[in-house]
Amino acid sequence: MKSEHLMLFLAALAVALSICICLLSLWQPPAAVIEFSSPSAAPTEEATEPTEISVSTMPSATEAATVAPTTEPTIHEHTYTGKVTKAPTCTSSGVRTYTCECGASYQENIEPLAHSYVIAVRNPTCTKNGCTIYTCKNCGYSDMELGESALGHSFGPWSVKKAPTETTTGIAERQCARCQETETVTLPKLG
Ligand SMILES: [Zn+2]
Ligand SMILES: [Zn+2]
Ligand SMILES: [Zn+2]
Repeated sequence: MKSEHLMLFLAALAVALSICICLLSLWQPPAAVIEFSSPSAAPTEEATEPTEISVSTMPSATEAATVAPTTEPTIHEHTYTGKVTKAPTCTSSGVRTYTCECGASYQENIEPLAHSYVIAVRNPTCTKNGCTIYTCKNCGYSDMELGESALGHSFGPWSVKKAPTETTTGIAERQCARCQETETVTLPKLG
């Protein structure tokens, strides 16, 4: 009886243990997953945090750098005075030089000046085309733009200045009403 009881007890214990093992084996995996997932998530946070820290240390370094210049300006601050060292012309650029009393200097380009034109409009004549002449009063450069074409003479009627005879030729003349240009032709002898 005692041995039977012991056997039953052992069997019950074995069953209880197996249930416990089963339960533990069932419970462990989720626990293990949680344990694995949480440390795996933690390192990434730790990995980002140090970079954030290194970034946060950067401003402190720049702060230190900004602090330093505030003490330095007492040494010297450039005061530049500009002066035209090469005057610009209509076609070439000039130079303005800025210098500090300490000797430091830099140069600045001055754009070429635009031509300063004097405009002369020439109306067309009987023989010449009209045009507009642009002359720069600073450098003398001249440019021209064609205008209206020549008008051509505006002759009046022919008038006999010397009548022809049987032995001599005559002369007829006509004059331009606009420019007084005269045109002359020889009249043949009579007969
Ligand atoms: Zn200076
Ligand atoms: Zn010019
Ligand atoms: Zn004319």
